Amino acid sequence: MHKPIIAIDGPAGAGKSTVAKGVADRLGYLYIDTGAMYRAIAWKVLQAGIAVSDAKSVVALAMRTRIRLSIVDGEQHVFADGEDVSRQIRSPEATRAASPVSAIPGVRKRLVELQREMAEEGGVVMEGRDIGTVVFPNAQVKIFLTASAEQRAERRVKQMREMGLEADIKQIAAEMRDRDLRDSSRADAPLTQAPDAILVDTDHMTVDQVIDAIVAVYNRAEAAEEA
Ligand code: C5P
Repeated sequence: MHKPIIAIDGPAGAGKSTVAKGVADRLGYLYIDTGAMYRAIAWKVLQAGIAVSDAKSVVALAMRTRIRLSIVDGEQHVFADGEDVSRQIRSPEATRAASPVSAIPGVRKRLVELQREMAEEGGVVMEGRDIGTVVFPNAQVKIFLTASAEQRAERRVKQMREMGLEADIKQIAAEMRDRDLRDSSRADAPLTQAPDAILVDTDHMTVDQVIDAIVAVYNRAEAAEEA
């Protein structure tokens, strides 16, 4: 039988990565960070000196770039044409470029194909913006993770500082607002809660509580399937 797919979507800084990783660990499932894939293309675009507004060249680059996710020392790393770009894709430049790059339909088409291939066997926790709406509309479990704008900015600053990157909370908050607005208002696969997704507001929850809640939803879905 095909193993389930757990789709976790939501805005920037809602805690998707930490939670998705935690759920995947608990269930022994594969974790797939789709944002890292869009970021990797954005990084290649910056490296190539292509303007993000030049959709044709961006799509051509996306088509010829090999993106791979692999576990290195227990952490998921992103490779673009064989180069480990896991650190570079978290830079402010790549973060800024990822949103306009991901709004280009040809880029999305290419990465969605890759994401579907990666999850062919099932047994995956995939996080992003459009997993429950577009990539896997039939996912067995769909979660829409959110938190207040203040919490999300604080979490992102903490995450960046842990990575040794400079971070100013006001600037991060403003950039997050811009990014969420662009991600939610684009024509192709906008960030939106799927009608059948379960909304989890993580403001007053610990990471473990959020993971527990998602695993409980998963267990209920499995039990319903067997009944
Ligand atoms: O999740 P993360 O912040 O790493 O994603 C970076 C950017 O990639 C987002 O701002 C969004 O524009 C884009 N993205 C997307 N669809 C996904 C995942 C990420 O458009 N499934």
